[in-house]
Amino acid sequence: MRCDVLAVGTELLLGQIVDTNSSWLGENLAMHGFDSLSQVKVGDNIGRITGHLRRMLSESDAVIMCGGLGPTHDDLTREAIAEVMGVELHLNEDVADVIRHLFSSRNRTMPKNNLRQAMVPDGATIIPQTRGTAPGLICPVVIETDSGPTERVVYAVPGVPHEMREMFERAILPDLQERSGEHWTIASRTLRTWGESESGLNERLDDIIRDLDAEGNPTLAFLASGWEGLKVRLTGRAPDESAAAALLAPWEEKIRKVLGDQVFGADNDTMESVVLDLLRARGWTVALAESVTGGLVSGRLTGVVGASEVFRGTIVSYASEVKFDVLGVEEGPVVTEEAAIAMAEGARKVLRADVGLALTGVAGPSEQDGMRPGTLFAAVALPDGEPDRVTSAHVRLPGDREMMRQLSVISALDLLRKRLLEIR
Ligand code: ATP
Repeated sequence: MRCDVLAVGTELLLGQIVDTNSSWLGENLAMHGFDSLSQVKVGDNIGRITGHLRRMLSESDAVIMCGGLGPTHDDLTREAIAEVMGVELHLNEDVADVIRHLFSSRNRTMPKNNLRQAMVPDGATIIPQTRGTAPGLICPVVIETDSGPTERVVYAVPGVPHEMREMFERAILPDLQERSGEHWTIASRTLRTWGESESGLNERLDDIIRDLDAEGNPTLAFLASGWEGLKVRLTGRAPDESAAAALLAPWEEKIRKVLGDQVFGADNDTMESVVLDLLRARGWTVALAESVTGGLVSGRLTGVVGASEVFRGTIVSYASEVKFDVLGVEEGPVVTEEAAIAMAEGARKVLRADVGLALTGVAGPSEQDGMRPGTLFAAVALPDGEPDRVTSAHVRLPGDREMMRQLSVISALDLLRKRLLEIR
């Protein structure tokens, strides 16, 4: 079944608003097995709106219109639909009561204009409003086609994105599913990765992507998440939940096999929750010494529920003297691998933890100790007796001060994660 999208609003054409509604609808229609082959933006002009609507209805089983349901004279969606249906608009008293109540409950006088939002084309069904004042509409339209009179449907939803999405899920999707007789369960699995660019991932997953394209279901998408890494999302469609899970599982396994430990988690996992889980599994606690990140890593760790079982604390050793006096770093340059290792050992000892993690570096804009901005030294100190007990990494990070510090957080946590995986 085909369902096209008509986004209404002159502001969309002037670039004052980006038409995110159409892309969201396109993605969600596709996920549920509906083709959306044409998406159009049109200004607030009755002739052009009806023109596009008629054209779209001649090609598509359904059209979703978003926007233009407001109370003012340039909100023309209702009028355009009535014209295309060939019916009149009448005030719907139930909708009018809801709008009146909404104003009185907020102790506000209702401008008369607002009753425009209670005007409903004859024959339309109302999608009751739960958030804004405008209800949505489900409007059956009969058009002439080569095979005679044919029923199509027009849905109208407000332009406000959260209202549009809520009405799509509550009313439009079930209606489309009923009309098409198709009902699919959509499942997705998101693998979280760190350490590779999008093109790098693409190249490594090339064979799998080709196989997926040939199958058509599930599909794979890369989602860039800034300094949180890249997400690889599989989305599949199947008759029920267990079939959907069974469809995704072998593809997830193939991807994990190729990407190895670059996959740090799945779905709602974060780098910090994964690190805490690995530590908890060994019964170890962790302490930090943060210089360049000034406590950001600890902030992330303590954001995870249950962190207290694992996380002992942090020494924010920003000044060199704190590194020397509190952590026992040898006097001298402090942006070095040796300093990072001594900081990790110091944090472990002073805060009486099993594992120490330390970060020292240059966030910029100026150099420090002859090191360029973007330089990070991170070190991990494991409990006595562990093989390769102390490890460190020298990382060159891109970006400005903020980006460098945020990337440092994930890089250091990733160093610790990989060490914990190695000794598992
Ligand atoms: P309401 O009756 O709730 O005011 P409406 O149907 O009249 O909604 P519009 O007045 O067209 O909707 O738009 C309301 C707001 O919704 C806009 O100011 C804009 O922020 C947002 N919006 C409208 N259309 C889109 C779109 N296609 N994509 C993203 N946002 C949109």
